[in-house]
Amino acid sequence: MSEPVGVQVGRVCPGCGREDSVPLRWGMPAVEDFRLAERGLVALGGCLLPGEEPILACRSCGLEWGRERDPTADEQALADLLGVQYADVVRALGRGWRRENAASDDGMQWFISGEPAQVAVGVDDLGFVLARPLTSWDGGRTDLLPTDGSQFRRDDLLWSPDVIAEAAEIIAARRRRSFRWCRTCRRAHAPESFVGAAGACRPCASAFTGVEA
Ligand SMILES: [Zn+2]
Ligand SMILES: [Zn+2]
Repeated sequence: MSEPVGVQVGRVCPGCGREDSVPLRWGMPAVEDFRLAERGLVALGGCLLPGEEPILACRSCGLEWGRERDPTADEQALADLLGVQYADVVRALGRGWRRENAASDDGMQWFISGEPAQVAVGVDDLGFVLARPLTSWDGGRTDLLPTDGSQFRRDDLLWSPDVIAEAAEIIAARRRRSFRWCRTCRRAHAPESFVGAAGACRPCASAFTGVEA
């Protein structure tokens, strides 16, 4: 995994309320760090490591803030919808949740986790469901397929986090097994965004191989 650069989506600065924070790199900067810092894609901390250093720097107001364990705005929204603490969400459902604006008329608010998306959770007044996400390759609509026995009440999150974690992992593991590796960009892709004939993901296939994607 390469280190994150650029504005971190969902990280809203507690100082100014703007979503304009970039990763803050500590320690002796490499040449590449200086280049990225010049372009405003990262900020450089000092060479001395304090106890628990902030991981983000706001480009708007200069505040250095954030901890690795902090929720993103979407993750906090999910915790609020479920009426629990973020730590409870992580224990039962894991992290990396981002809001999915699925074209669903089921009254559910959807979130997905994993890259590519591996598991989805939909929240409504009754509780929440776990689902298998099928993303469209161009980042458009996501189809969400709730699986049997994946209907939970909010209470379950606090009292049976292990049961939920296992149900979520069954969905995620099954989804991961369907991923294909692109031989051009060498990243994992969901099957719906993969062109088998080209052995490549759709973006690579249409850009480089001339195969109709
Ligand atoms: Zn700020
Ligand atoms: Zn590719």
